[in-house]
Amino acid sequence: MSGFDFEEERIKQEIAKRGAKQVLLQLPEGLKSEGLRLAKIVEGAGALPIISADPCYGPCDLATSEAERLGADLIIHFGHAKLVKHEPVPTVYVEARATVTVDDVVEKSLPLLNKYKQIGLATTVQHVQALGYVKEILVRAGKTVMVGDAGRMNYPGQVSGCDYSNVKSIADAVDAFLFIGGGRFHALGIALSTSKPTLVADPYEKRVYAIDKEAEKILKQRWACVEEVKRAKIFGVLVGLKLGQKRFDEALKIKELARQKGKQAFLFAVKEISPEVLMEFPQVDAYVNTACPRISLDAPSKFLKPVLTVNEFMVVSGEISWENLLKKGLFEN
Ligand code: SF4
Repeated sequence: MSGFDFEEERIKQEIAKRGAKQVLLQLPEGLKSEGLRLAKIVEGAGALPIISADPCYGPCDLATSEAERLGADLIIHFGHAKLVKHEPVPTVYVEARATVTVDDVVEKSLPLLNKYKQIGLATTVQHVQALGYVKEILVRAGKTVMVGDAGRMNYPGQVSGCDYSNVKSIADAVDAFLFIGGGRFHALGIALSTSKPTLVADPYEKRVYAIDKEAEKILKQRWACVEEVKRAKIFGVLVGLKLGQKRFDEALKIKELARQKGKQAFLFAVKEISPEVLMEFPQVDAYVNTACPRISLDAPSKFLKPVLTVNEFMVVSGEISWENLLKKGLFEN
């Protein structure tokens, strides 16, 4: 494999430098197939590797309690940049930068960018190293290029599943965004957070496409969902148990707000939010999700009951208008 840089030498050095004896390896789904190869590298460096087989969706999902239970003295977390400020267990991040070239797909995007002059660039941590080069190609084609740096992410232009502060910081100044990376997930987040035309330049599938129609459809569905929930009487407030998803104060605020509006609200602690888990509480009319906000948006039809983001609940409770929600973003803090 594999199209990604796993920084094998750094892994060995970190193990030696820290004198780690037992190492928990955490990989997102797309990289799990590398687990055995990486475990051998850890073993060769003199430590006992343990591969976490549980799902890992983001840097918020650091397996610190699992590491503590196993007595692991180091976590190596692959595929994401650091998010959690203070890890209870020493953690090394291997961002798994992509080695695939992006120039051909960026060239392909030029005809689709024809009607736009000012272009905002964005990507995930896997491709942040390519942004300078992408910018050169666009500038040569006569575009003005901006890369946002709002200071919350690790790198300029970087977006994550639930943090679009970098693109929001330049949204008013650009005509459209070009997202470099695989899949629709992050590009959809850009379109939903900025309401700007957004193109995906996917270097894996070698194709370029617009995501705006899909974003519009999601917005319509969310508006309908918010309207429906205005009639709800009993709310379930989901409190995430993953290290970087716990927003207990937010959950308490929602419970209190619901009470003030004459509704009942119950707190639910949950690690993995799934339709099956929520089906166990038929009395609940609607849920408010303070954990991973993308769960509410990306597959709403899976859930039998509406699952709102925190910001959407603010519309339901009359704290903000739908128009202001669109400015603030469906799911960002
Ligand atoms: S909360 Fe959800 S979207 Fe945000 S980093 Fe975690 S898994 Fe990704």
